[in-house]
Amino acid sequence: MSTEETLILVKPDGVARGLTGEILRRIEAKGYRIADLRMLTASRELLAEHYEEHEGKPFFEPLIEFMSSGPVVAVRAEGNRVIEGFRALAGTTDPTAAAPGTIRGDLGRDWGVAVQQNLVHGSDSTLSAERELGLWFA
Ligand code: GDP
Ligand code: MG
Repeated sequence: MSTEETLILVKPDGVARGLTGEILRRIEAKGYRIADLRMLTASRELLAEHYEEHEGKPFFEPLIEFMSSGPVVAVRAEGNRVIEGFRALAGTTDPTAAAPGTIRGDLGRDWGVAVQQNLVHGSDSTLSAERELGLWFA
C-alpha cells in the first residue's frame, strides 16, 4: 500500500475560534503525519480555483467571501488512505448533521449565515488532492 497525501484546510472559522491546535491534534492523534503547514489569507483567485467544481452554485459567492475573510491554515498530511481517513475525521458537510466524534460534529454548528461554516476542508480524491496541493503549496 502506498502512502498518500491530502490537503487539509482549517477554515477561517476554525482559526478565528482558536481551534487550529485541536484540529491538528486530531489529525496527529489519528496517526497521520503533518508534512507541511502554512498560514495565509487566501486570495479570491486561489479560492475560485480551489472551489472551481462549485462555480455557479448559489453558495459559491458566499463561500469565496467567507474563505477569504481571514487566515486559514493549510496542511499537507500524509499516511495510508489519509484522503478517506481525514474525510471521516471531518464528518459530513453540514455541521448540524455531522456525527458526534467528528471535527464538524463535535466542534461545529449552524450559525445562521449564508454558507455552511464547517471548520475544515479535506480533498475528496487522489486527483483533487494532487490538484489542491499544487495550488496551496505551489
Ligand atoms: P465538503 O467537501 O464537505 O467541504 O463539501 P462541498 O465540496 O460539497 O462544499 C464545499 C463547501 O461549501 C462546504 O464545506 C461548505 O462550506 C459549503 N457548502 C456546501 N454545500 C452547501 C450548501 O448547500 N449550502 C451552503 N450554505 N453552503 C454549502
Ligand atoms: Mg468538497
